Amino acid sequence: METPKKKDIRALSKEQLRDFFVSQGDNAYRGDQVYEWLWRKAAHSFDAMTNVSKETRTMLTNNFVINHIEVDRMQRSNDGTIKNAVRLHDGLIVESVLIPTASRTTACVSSQVGCSLDCKFCATSRLKRMRNLNPDEIYDQVVAIDQQSKLYHNHPLSNIVFMGMGEPLMNYNNVLKAIDKITKPEGLGMSPKRITVSTSGVPKMIRKMADDGVKFKLAVSLHSAIDEVRTSIMPFNATFTLPDLREALMYWYDKTKSRITYEYVVWEGINDTQKDVDALVDFCRFAPSKVNLIEYNPIDDGIFKQAPEDAINRYVKTLERNGITVTVRRSRGKDIDAACGQLANKS
Ligand code: SF4
Repeated sequence: METPKKKDIRALSKEQLRDFFVSQGDNAYRGDQVYEWLWRKAAHSFDAMTNVSKETRTMLTNNFVINHIEVDRMQRSNDGTIKNAVRLHDGLIVESVLIPTASRTTACVSSQVGCSLDCKFCATSRLKRMRNLNPDEIYDQVVAIDQQSKLYHNHPLSNIVFMGMGEPLMNYNNVLKAIDKITKPEGLGMSPKRITVSTSGVPKMIRKMADDGVKFKLAVSLHSAIDEVRTSIMPFNATFTLPDLREALMYWYDKTKSRITYEYVVWEGINDTQKDVDALVDFCRFAPSKVNLIEYNPIDDGIFKQAPEDAINRYVKTLERNGITVTVRRSRGKDIDAACGQLANKS
């Protein structure tokens, strides 16, 4: 007879863990102790739980597994950026990145293996979506980068962006559960204000986030405020059109009063005219907004090319004239393919 598969212990809530110990004739408090090892102390094995008796550890080993991630390969860029190829318990690989600046270190984490969307400029879109990440797999990426931040940059991780592989709002429940663990004192205790969920724009889910009263920040990968242009580079825009997205963002702002960030790349011959800039201003002026103009990292397809400096300057001037905050963000980690849109399990 086949031995039943052991359950991942981190799929249990604190309450369920307490109940489990009671069902074993032990004290519910033991559940709290083990829960602390699993999350705050991020233990990878039951043997690491040194204040738990050997008998209890053996009982846990007989009943459960801890499906933790392993950093399979770590690459360090000349600018201090670190890219991790992360192996999941079933052998699949995702990537996560540590991005250092003078004042902070940011973890860019993945939420899915591959991606179900098909943005033409993105290397991840070439990998078909295999599965969603579990909350603990997202949490572990953050823990691993926090450790690297302390080791290589002498301070803990300060910010998290969900901008790695996958569309986080297509794995909403698990992303929310992971953020819950990251922000609770019994997890990493980070402020939700330091977390940004970046979406390509799924209107229904943006509304849901607003209804759920989430406290983290929202960023939208917009790249064009003209429907035909956006659909040509982000084909799902034919379904989730700009008017729908804008309405959902208005709803978000009404409920949260939280500024919206737009991620935007300017490509030569695609969205580099004054008409494109004016459409962007029209799209985002309903609420306090910030536009991040991101430097593009070619993915060897010969189609997408970063627009020249004068096109970027046209965006900056027009946005500023209209009272919209704008930053020009240079890419980091280009030499190791760790920059935005380059994550494709190449290493
Ligand atoms: S840009 Fe984001 S949503 Fe679009 S294909 Fe890449 S990972 Fe998916």
